[in-house]
Amino acid sequence: MNAPASRTATRAKPDLRGLTLPEISQIVADMNEPAYRAGQIASWVFGKGAGSFEEMTNLSKSFRAELSDRACLNPLNPARHSKSRHGPTTKYLFELGDGQKVETVLIGGSRRNTLCISTQVGCAIGCRFCASGLEGLVRNMTTAEIVDQVVQVRNQTTLTGEARPINNIVVMGMGEPLANYRQVLRAVRIINADWGLGIGARRITLSTSGLVPKIYQLAEEKLQFELSVSLHATDDRTRTRIVPINKRYPLKQLMKACRHYTGATDRIITYEYVLLKGVNDRFQDAENLVKLLKKDKCKLNLIPYNPVRGLPYERPDEHRQAAFVEALRTGGLQLTMRRERGRDIDAACGQLRLVESRRSR
Ligand code: SAH
Ligand code: SF4
Repeated sequence: MNAPASRTATRAKPDLRGLTLPEISQIVADMNEPAYRAGQIASWVFGKGAGSFEEMTNLSKSFRAELSDRACLNPLNPARHSKSRHGPTTKYLFELGDGQKVETVLIGGSRRNTLCISTQVGCAIGCRFCASGLEGLVRNMTTAEIVDQVVQVRNQTTLTGEARPINNIVVMGMGEPLANYRQVLRAVRIINADWGLGIGARRITLSTSGLVPKIYQLAEEKLQFELSVSLHATDDRTRTRIVPINKRYPLKQLMKACRHYTGATDRIITYEYVLLKGVNDRFQDAENLVKLLKKDKCKLNLIPYNPVRGLPYERPDEHRQAAFVEALRTGGLQLTMRRERGRDIDAACGQLRLVESRRSR
């Protein structure tokens, strides 16, 4: 009788961009090579963004050949990129090994260059206003694919001469990061590590639609990363309508988890609130938001909705936005309003990929 396929199949080689330094060290130890080789490999892969083994010129040919027997390097393929006419925003569309496409957005600022990275192809949560969830979840991204978005954008900006250091990462692209918990946590650890991409933990923000059990799990990790929670509504009826995961984890449970997180980690949560015309932008909504958050140690970030073609949601006009902000400030809430950048390049989450997939039909 034949052995089961899983036992006969050779294990896929790990991608170096998804490995931690201890894991690279293990490969080097298995090769009976000196330990310092691991640091050299990490420096090529993460520090210099090497796209092939041939580039690692301080490693001998035979060493590289043996390394390539044990691990691979499959960089993302830049499928397309577009620059905003309105500001220093560039949106990248990358092709993964299986032909799937994900998007990454570089948002320039006077002090910070923020990279918004994706964690899943599509998204299972299906928030009604969001382009990423429209076609459901295709698959989780691997650690290497998540990390490589940072490496590739850094490589590209260096190549084009606009070598802006990426010093801020927001995990707010396509996908629900906490639904791909293990890979995302590995990726942000690599992005943060000194031997990795060296971006400070407090400059890395994870955003979740509210996966309550995962918020408790994250609290246990005692990490210094920032956490954003996509609130978007203050009553269960409205929130379930626009963020369907609210049916499983209603507001009371979500707020309890968030307060536990703050207590356990001493980290302040930022609540995201996307302003949708006629849905959550009434004076009463602002008042409810004040009631819900005023006793909490937290921040609030308002996001004027970026309309998605084919979806019935709209952004409230400037006057309504200002009135909403005023009501929150009067109520004593500290808030920021996300500035509009890159609207002309479909910079909201999931939109570029959607345009691309509609085009190829
Ligand atoms: N899945 C995670 C992270 C990715 S979405 C989450 O939902 O938090 C990042 C943020 O962008 C979320 O707050 C999300 O609600 C918001 N968002 C999605 N589509 C948007 C759009 N078209 N305009 C403005 N904000 C949007
Ligand atoms: Fe998924 Fe976030 Fe979009 Fe909701 S807003 S569908 S959770 S990516």
